[in-house]
Amino acid sequence: MTAMSSADTHCPYCALQCAMTVTHQGETTVTGRDFPTNRGGLCAKGWTSAELLASPHRLRMPLMRRSDGTLAETTWDEALDAVAAAFRDTKAAHGPDANAIFGGGGLTNEKAYQLGKFARVALGTSRIDYNGRFCMSSAAAASNRAFGMDRGLPFPVTDLDDAQTILLLGSNVAATMPPFLAHLAGARAAGGLIVVDPRRSATARLTEDGAGTHLQAAPGTDLPLLLGLTHIVIAEGLADRAYIDERTSGFESLRRSVAQWWPERTSSTTGIPVAQLRETARRLAAGGAYILTGRGVEQHVDGTATATAAINLALVLGLVGRDGSGYGTLTGQGNGQGGREHGQKADQLPGYRSIRDPEARRHVAGVWGVDPDELPDAGIPATALLGELGGPVKTLLVAGSNVVVSAPDVDALRQRLQSLDTLIVCDFFLSETAELADIVLPVLQWAEEEGTMTSLEGRVIRRRQALAGPDGARSELWIMAEIARRLGAASTWSTVPAEVFDELARASEGGVADYSGLSHALLDTGVEAYWPYRAEGTPRPFTQRFAHADGRARLVAVDATPPTPTDRGGELTLVTGRYLQQYQSGTQTRRVAELNGARPEARLEIHPATASRLGIREDALVAVSNERGTVRARATVTTDIRHDTVFLPFHYAGDECANRLTEALVDPTSAMPEFKRTRVRVTPDAAV
Ligand code: SF4
Repeated sequence: MTAMSSADTHCPYCALQCAMTVTHQGETTVTGRDFPTNRGGLCAKGWTSAELLASPHRLRMPLMRRSDGTLAETTWDEALDAVAAAFRDTKAAHGPDANAIFGGGGLTNEKAYQLGKFARVALGTSRIDYNGRFCMSSAAAASNRAFGMDRGLPFPVTDLDDAQTILLLGSNVAATMPPFLAHLAGARAAGGLIVVDPRRSATARLTEDGAGTHLQAAPGTDLPLLLGLTHIVIAEGLADRAYIDERTSGFESLRRSVAQWWPERTSSTTGIPVAQLRETARRLAAGGAYILTGRGVEQHVDGTATATAAINLALVLGLVGRDGSGYGTLTGQGNGQGGREHGQKADQLPGYRSIRDPEARRHVAGVWGVDPDELPDAGIPATALLGELGGPVKTLLVAGSNVVVSAPDVDALRQRLQSLDTLIVCDFFLSETAELADIVLPVLQWAEEEGTMTSLEGRVIRRRQALAGPDGARSELWIMAEIARRLGAASTWSTVPAEVFDELARASEGGVADYSGLSHALLDTGVEAYWPYRAEGTPRPFTQRFAHADGRARLVAVDATPPTPTDRGGELTLVTGRYLQQYQSGTQTRRVAELNGARPEARLEIHPATASRLGIREDALVAVSNERGTVRARATVTTDIRHDTVFLPFHYAGDECANRLTEALVDPTSAMPEFKRTRVRVTPDAAV
């Protein structure tokens, strides 16, 4: 009989980080575990996650591209020697910034931290960023500017249980994190769930039968909608003037900026009736309200302005930092929060501190045992970094990201990846990005090693090992240590997650995201570890003051100027989004039989009137195209979508890859690409 092992850990997928127990005895099983965020529940992705561990698609040995163009198995020594040689030769020939790192929001805190240190110390490059740039960057920029701190939810998820009203903008939680719906039950019972989405998504349908309101705004009009709601709040005397005076700055400038967004103008821009706008504003002002944003409103070239407008509305209503109300953004990737706190971002050091801050550089360099003057300066954001591939950047290491599915304009990106001198990919499956690599390094998965994650509510949690990984797979911590050793890098490179966490905690000390009071041992006691955590945790960081030096939140005036470049390319607006059974680029979920069986392909959602005009019937193959590329998919004809809008999921590769159509235009503040407002043509597919 095989010995049994088991561990209390958390789901490998999204930022809700549902608690589960993984048990291994011959085969591996997963059961939900009671925890405040999921209360024992798991979605289909969580229930089937054990299949990832035993998948026949696992990579079990390093792969290297041979002279005949094929990828063939090799030894770890040969692969790591080749990686080190590529980094060394690239630096010698082209300088340190010709080497680059692209990380991921699913990596543990320890790995995200070590990746940032590896780039700056072992490679000496400024060129590091990660796929969180495509996820949380707009909300992060807006929160940092308004509050002086970016913690997705600055309150425990369970605070939502007692809400009377929840305004949910651009988030389809019924598909992305179903156990979260339990926290919407109170607002639904009060008739106060208000969902803003151009689709009647599964979440929008939760507003039916008196549970709330679906505001089916035209795609890309979230910013005018929020400006218009703020106008109504101020014009109708619903603003909390005492709170504004005591806890914010910038109100007069904000008031002037929304003056022109009178209800009729907002209505004609968004398509939402004036009565619904007024009702929404009054409802938000009636008490017990939360405003939550998601990628639907943030993944735009005006994403930072839109998130800022949502924050402004919440501040004018006096919702933030008070019991029973609030503003937050729903982080997507499993460690989307922690992944952006410890050095993967181009401009940041551990503790969520600016790499341009001399004191932060001194402190972190001291922990690393290096000269602060030798640390590189700030790098460039992900989309710009990917734009340098094959140009200034010659060698790239990708860890925990499948960019040829998830980045914008992927056909152009594929060409740039193929023009690199050396592409190195760390993954546990041969993702579409790994297929292009010169060297593929197989890594362990979530239940095969120790670590920590930081959930959407800023709670640091333990990920624990339940079983051993395949013989040939290694942790990224070990991989980085081995490459650093081969390069003769300064500093020490532990491969023990608890030791790396202790170093991270020291490096983060004094930063906004301060983990200095935490350790694996303390986390194992079950302590509620909301950061900042020095002597104790901080579940609600804004109750007394905001994180700016004067303690006040900033009201930042923003305006809506429709960006013109995205208006090219066709008569319909494509929005991209998610299915319940798939996750992000699908690298994992497309390999889980039950999940992929339920959602095996991308479907184009199109309104019946539009479909009829274009000669498209249910299930017909269609071509969705613009000047960047063409996607082929079957049609789902549905009244759930507006006449002027079509929808594609972004989980699929090849001909079904929605990001063949999206454009690498970015938000000027956050560098978030435009994923949710792409002009396209739709035609019956003549090629089939
Ligand atoms: Fe996993 Fe997210 Fe599903 Fe929970 S909601 S089981 S964390 S994918």
